[in-house]
Amino acid sequence: MGKIILKKVNKSFGATQVIPGIDLTIEDGEFVVFVGPSGCGKSTLLRLIAGLEDTTSGSIEIDGRDVTGEAPARRGLAMVFQSYALYPHMSVRNNIAFPLKMAKMDQAAIDKKVTDAARVLNLTNYLDRRPGQLSGGQRQRVAIGRAIVREPSAFLFDEPLSNLDAALRGTMRLEISELHHQLKTTMIYVTHDQVEAMTMADKIVVLNAGNIEQVGSPLDLYNKPDNLFVAGFIGSPR
Ligand code: ADP
Ligand code: MG
Repeated sequence: MGKIILKKVNKSFGATQVIPGIDLTIEDGEFVVFVGPSGCGKSTLLRLIAGLEDTTSGSIEIDGRDVTGEAPARRGLAMVFQSYALYPHMSVRNNIAFPLKMAKMDQAAIDKKVTDAARVLNLTNYLDRRPGQLSGGQRQRVAIGRAIVREPSAFLFDEPLSNLDAALRGTMRLEISELHHQLKTTMIYVTHDQVEAMTMADKIVVLNAGNIEQVGSPLDLYNKPDNLFVAGFIGSPR
């Protein structure tokens, strides 16, 4: 399960309205990319879904349940942070196990989940290393592993590859797409990079100043952009 419905979601910080009102349905299992220029509200929208910010008005539904105002931990979603959010003093094993230890899961169950996640992510031989002894791509996989073990109904990524060099970004892009094929779990992926949007998404949501300009498949947006903003944004790599 991982169907997410936003109804008239509005967010203001003080007097500043960042998201005037968004209606959006994300289907179970979809890979959805939020794309748009810096400052357009991508992170804010993702954080509203995660529960890291409260909506000013409107509602958010996950798998038929109204979660508006509910704490992040109760929503069953996993936010994947950039790889620098790992604990440098902990082994890879303990970094991945961390959310399960916090949830007081028993050790045998934790070990099994960490082993399974490490297998999916090709980290089996690195479990006893520290993050500092890993490559950038491996560190990013550990950050994803920490999300996988919680078996979320959706993964939320906020520009997870922006710290990596161009070659590694290409590799990780493929790895995350492959992970989506394996897990078939809903993924919401925020980026300002048109190439990531076009190559990874089932559905692209183009944002501009807190509003949705267009929602569609990469092909839809490329062939039938609704307006000049979408045409310019998808058409011109920056
Ligand atoms: P993006 O991720 O697309 O770059 P953000 O969602 O981070 O954009 O920010 C959208 C707008 O909201 C920006 O103008 C930003 O300055 C503002 N904003 C984000 N978070 C806060 C906050 N906690 N307080 C005040 N303004 C914020
Ligand atoms: Mg952002």
